[in-house]
Amino acid sequence: MPDATVMEQIVSLCKRRGFIYPASEIYGGINGFWDYGPLGVLLKNNIRDWWWNQMVLCPPIGPDGHPIEMVGLDSAIIQNPKTWVASGHAGGFADPMQTCRQCKKLFRADHVAAMFMESEWLGALADSIGDGTNIDPQTIENAEKWARGKGRKLAPGLAFVRGVEKALNALVVELAVQRRAGRLQISNIGICPNCGGDLTEPRQFNLMLGSEVGAVDPVKVYLRPETAQGIFLNFKNIIDTSRVKVPFGVAQTGKSFRNEVTPRNFIFRSREFEQMEMEWFCHPDEAPKWYEFWKAKRMEWWRSLGVAESNLRFRDHEKDELSHYSKMTVDIEYKYPFTSPDFGELEGIAHRGEFDLKQHSEHSGQKLDYFDQELQLRLKEQGASPEEVKAKSRYIPNVIEPASGLTRAVLVLLCEAYTPDEARPSKMFLKFKPQFAPIKVGIFPLVNKDGMPEVAEKLYLDLRNQFTCEYDAKQSIGKRYARMDEIGTPFCVTIDGQTLQDQTVTIRDRDAMGQVRVGIGQVSGYLRERL
Ligand code: ATP
Repeated sequence: MPDATVMEQIVSLCKRRGFIYPASEIYGGINGFWDYGPLGVLLKNNIRDWWWNQMVLCPPIGPDGHPIEMVGLDSAIIQNPKTWVASGHAGGFADPMQTCRQCKKLFRADHVAAMFMESEWLGALADSIGDGTNIDPQTIENAEKWARGKGRKLAPGLAFVRGVEKALNALVVELAVQRRAGRLQISNIGICPNCGGDLTEPRQFNLMLGSEVGAVDPVKVYLRPETAQGIFLNFKNIIDTSRVKVPFGVAQTGKSFRNEVTPRNFIFRSREFEQMEMEWFCHPDEAPKWYEFWKAKRMEWWRSLGVAESNLRFRDHEKDELSHYSKMTVDIEYKYPFTSPDFGELEGIAHRGEFDLKQHSEHSGQKLDYFDQELQLRLKEQGASPEEVKAKSRYIPNVIEPASGLTRAVLVLLCEAYTPDEARPSKMFLKFKPQFAPIKVGIFPLVNKDGMPEVAEKLYLDLRNQFTCEYDAKQSIGKRYARMDEIGTPFCVTIDGQTLQDQTVTIRDRDAMGQVRVGIGQVSGYLRERL
């Protein structure tokens, strides 16, 4: 199935079955915002809980064979506006943006080329130019025919649609040829992916969403564009009030907001989203070691969600791509249906050096350095001079930051689980790793009478304390199984006529579609073993 179709089907399934809805839908929606429905919120919570479990409650074993130290935090979304001046977001958190002079749409300059190659009108033009891999007279003639017909509707702003005889835009025809060949060689196009009109030169556009706080003399504030800064602001509090010693980490999950120029690809790029971020504070000399450590651990974590190895990869940032704070950054990328065969970002792991603590220290006037008592003792034992001991045992820790998107993780699990299967009534199923499935067990009376609902409800009450269960007595059993396949429920337990005679039930396995019969008293053990 073409990847574009897969994506359309995932979006439609999410709406139809209650994973994700467009926000404010009854008012026509609002671009870049999404609501998570009954199943979406369960899926999202399962991923978040697993991240919290693996980062805060049972963090990895460190390179020295001992558990590392990690604590959690939940900081405010709105902080003192000076935060964003110190962090560099007020000045530098901007994307280059281009506007179309014809249709007035806004585009992120670095996204234009990809959007252009995906645009409907370029596809239609490419379809019309014959099989020309070079631009020959026939190709030009076909393109002109297209411009006089379909092009008027699809790309009214395009120069050679507006005046075919005057201007044959050879660049656009060349790009249509490139699209046919599935390659892209031009990065700075200057043509609107929507209507073909001219784009303005790129201008910087700050991505922070603002608000106001206070009734009298309201103060301009910003909704955080990342959760990380709340962690830096609390560095001293955490050192002073908990037992952690460098190296240690502080983890936080929560909402972030960015006024994205072109929110797109479903929940991949939205204006309100959730992040899972951790700041690892370590001695500057040890930062490269911890960078490698977290790189490996974070990739392991993504695989633990059941994501195929072949759909994940690392991509090192080029020097000119690094954020203002970063010394080294690597992205973990996933092969999304809309990027395939290429990959798109899922998590960034950045070596932020001492940038953030130093900036906040300078801007707040507070000392945000660390006195390393163990290092002091070691230096003394090694016979270092008192001056050297003093200078070296107080330092600003370096930071390694694995920063991932929780809502992007939801998208990855949906894409990964989506499995077409013509043999099923639903024609597909969501093959979630059972641990992450929103509903683990469906419990059904075969028919809604003859004493079956009573037995089924009792079983439901027994099981719901252990697993997320759904009791359902509506529609035919086939339709109920099909619905459970569509939402990725790994097991369905059915109470039928035989249950009333011999106290056994059937358990249906989502992947194999096979059923086994087990005693009603063994259901919980059977499921626990497999979940
Ligand atoms: P991108 O290059 O995709 O804009 P970024 O490099 O700006 O992302 P970071 O600032 O490193 O992203 O944020 C960490 C993570 O937060 C990203 O890897 C991504 O998973 C998630 N994220 C960032 N922006 C968005 C967004 N607009 N919508 C959904 N998730 C996002």
